[in-house]
Amino acid sequence: MHKLTLKELSAQLQARKISAAELATLFLDRIDASDLNAFLHVDRDLTLAQAKAADARLAGNDAGPLTGTPIAHKDIFVTRGWRTTAGSRMLENYVSPFDATVVERFNAAGAVTLGKVNCDEFAMGSGNENSFYGPVKNPWDKAAVPGGSSGGSAAAVAARLAPAATATDTGGSIRQPASLCGVTGIKPTYGSVSRFGMIAFASSLDQGGPIAKTAEDCGLLLNAMTGFDERDSTSLERPKEDFNRSLNDGVQGLRIGVPKEFFGAGLAADVEQAVRAALAEFEKLGATLVEISLPKTELSIPVYYVIAPAEASSNLSRFDGVRYGHRAADYKDLADMYKKSRAEGFGEEVKRRILVGSYVLSHGYYDAYYLQAQKIRRLIAQDFRNALEGPNRQCDVIMGPVAPTVAWDLGDKTNDPVANYLADIFTLSTSLAGLPGMSIPCGFGQGDKNGKRPVGLQIIGNYFDEARLLNVAHQFQQATDWHLREPA
Ligand code: GLN
Repeated sequence: MHKLTLKELSAQLQARKISAAELATLFLDRIDASDLNAFLHVDRDLTLAQAKAADARLAGNDAGPLTGTPIAHKDIFVTRGWRTTAGSRMLENYVSPFDATVVERFNAAGAVTLGKVNCDEFAMGSGNENSFYGPVKNPWDKAAVPGGSSGGSAAAVAARLAPAATATDTGGSIRQPASLCGVTGIKPTYGSVSRFGMIAFASSLDQGGPIAKTAEDCGLLLNAMTGFDERDSTSLERPKEDFNRSLNDGVQGLRIGVPKEFFGAGLAADVEQAVRAALAEFEKLGATLVEISLPKTELSIPVYYVIAPAEASSNLSRFDGVRYGHRAADYKDLADMYKKSRAEGFGEEVKRRILVGSYVLSHGYYDAYYLQAQKIRRLIAQDFRNALEGPNRQCDVIMGPVAPTVAWDLGDKTNDPVANYLADIFTLSTSLAGLPGMSIPCGFGQGDKNGKRPVGLQIIGNYFDEARLLNVAHQFQQATDWHLREPA
């Protein structure tokens, strides 16, 4: 049962082959038996109460496609009744008085919360090693990182501890852990998913999305999570759509842009091989490959690591030990209390970003760094528009690797922030442009170890082209079985 997709579980529930309570218990038992450190907070009573309510809806024919289906929430979405830590000591015992819009929508759909999953502190990281609550292990190889920042979400789905999980992507945190854990994830167009109650990292980049086994499941989840929310000032007002409406369209004639900048030095041979094999599979299905150029790709790292810390330094100023968060036990005066509380509450990477962010926003440096980064951000978006828009557009979707390597070993990059930043090279540009992007499993590599570690294929589309991305991914998943492979 735990191997089934969300779609299949939903059918089992609707046909009363299993109850929501039984299903929740099955996954809770798996979570209890797991040693991946994927879950930070589990509460059987809360979960089973939700499951019983779902069973009542199922019995009363008041059920939708997600009623009774279990889901895990990244610990960056605030939840009433469950602790929300954002992976930080700062929020160690924080319980929100309200639910994030995303959580509210899943609750309204009758989904059953299995618990809160681990993540990098305030979603800053690429390996999930920046969590105050310890790293998550990659289910494919427990010596490896699961990717970050949504490492708990990806590991939970890969290890079949949950059929689906919420996640957030600021510079790659849905796609990269999905890639490293061999599961499917999509970051929708910026503004599609409400940021209300999603603890803010970099507000102009943060975007929620789902991680699941299949593209079809991701579509079901997007159907529930997207939509206008007046409590998020950058939420988009668009008509409701069914993201799975074109799943079964063929890909004959699809023009796939293959950016040459995504295949240069720095891309590991094993990753390149798996990605090229996936592209060949698409050709077999009738698509054509077109070489394109996204010349500003390499600037996305410096640009992102100016803009994201700048926004983070502003967003994180609210954690002062007064209104929210950890407060130091001993202090001399008010200023000393702020200093000590923040020094104790935040981890090293978060502090590094607050310092970088404050620096690039400060008088005299704002023009040189922040403003300049914003200008280049515009050019990065223009690269994509040239490829995907207008009468001279070159392709319908763009494909390439998600990450330059397979998962690395826990500890390998812990003391090297720049090595972590470089792991984001292929995901950052999409985030800076606000475009939708997804990761689907497409093979395995070895890295420099003997392990078998998953490789993800990245699919990027134009604004609001999520249905097409899911269609293209679904066609690949009908023709291959990488998404069904499971860790031992
Ligand atoms: N790895 C990137 C960072 O550390 C992206 C994280 C994210 O998308 N939340 O900022």
